Amino acid sequence: MDETRFAEKTTTYLRDLAERSEAIRKMYFFDPEFEDVPADIGRDLLNEKVNSPLFGTVRKFDGRLLVLLSYTCAANCRYCERQDRVGVGLDRVGRLAPRQVDAVVDYVANDPSLYEVIASGGDPLINPKGLERLFTSLSRVEHVKVLRIHTRFPLQSPERVDMALMERLAATKSTVYFSLHIDHPDELTPQVLAVIRDLRRCGFILISQSVFLKGVNDDIDTLQRMFTELFQLGVRPYYIYHCQRIQTTERFEMDLAEEVRIMSALRERLSGLAFPQHVIDLPSARGKVLVPSHHWDWDPAKVRDFDDSSLSTATWQILPTS
Ligand code: SF4
Repeated sequence: MDETRFAEKTTTYLRDLAERSEAIRKMYFFDPEFEDVPADIGRDLLNEKVNSPLFGTVRKFDGRLLVLLSYTCAANCRYCERQDRVGVGLDRVGRLAPRQVDAVVDYVANDPSLYEVIASGGDPLINPKGLERLFTSLSRVEHVKVLRIHTRFPLQSPERVDMALMERLAATKSTVYFSLHIDHPDELTPQVLAVIRDLRRCGFILISQSVFLKGVNDDIDTLQRMFTELFQLGVRPYYIYHCQRIQTTERFEMDLAEEVRIMSALRERLSGLAFPQHVIDLPSARGKVLVPSHHWDWDPAKVRDFDDSSLSTATWQILPTS
């Protein structure tokens, strides 16, 4: 395959699972009908490249720093919003080297306004040494109160999760959140359930993030099943995102009005603790904007940013008009 394409990458575990799950096949297998175009690595979909104070970081929100510890994952999701960096382009960089992790720690230590650091990627569990170095050092920084791990690795390669490392990370002095990116209940296999129970025993606060995906999870019953199972396992559903539109992901993007219809129905069915916030990452906005349900009358032409400014037409034209 042309190396400028967002490569197909799966694991033995996922290939086995794909034999009995169409959802897994759609999420992970390259589809030449839609994807035979070069990845647009010059694009900055969510203004992350222009908000990077030093290599491997994104700083868009007050008090928080995102650290992209690796630029690879155990497997490549076909709808990845960071495919301008993950799987192409920055593959040669691979992961942050120890000196780059130390530079991030120095940056955080010198800015007392930063109280929360989020390890992401790619996938931070692809860089376990970097992750431990980052968390061990940051836990000694007085003003850092919260550390977060955002990963999909346990759902892509559950047998390779290093539980001894997880125990050490959970035991750092900061409060540590562990966020699982999960999009379909078929991902909750017995192996994954065992990993989630072990992660709970380690002492992490477990949360989940998901993306609406046409043809994968775009129905009420599927999402009800997934959020209920997560809630019962002790994983608090946190966010469900609108899928970001880039050339190769258009087939997954849902009409936002349909997402609102599904979320409104789910709100009537789910316990409040099982119900995630429906959010949209608008490129020019300063935060993730909550999408209102049908339980209120609202005017999609009046979306405002966190500082009360109007968002440009270009940023909200994806919103429903009725
Ligand atoms: S695990 Fe996350 S970063 Fe990696 S390919 Fe999937 S969506 Fe992208």
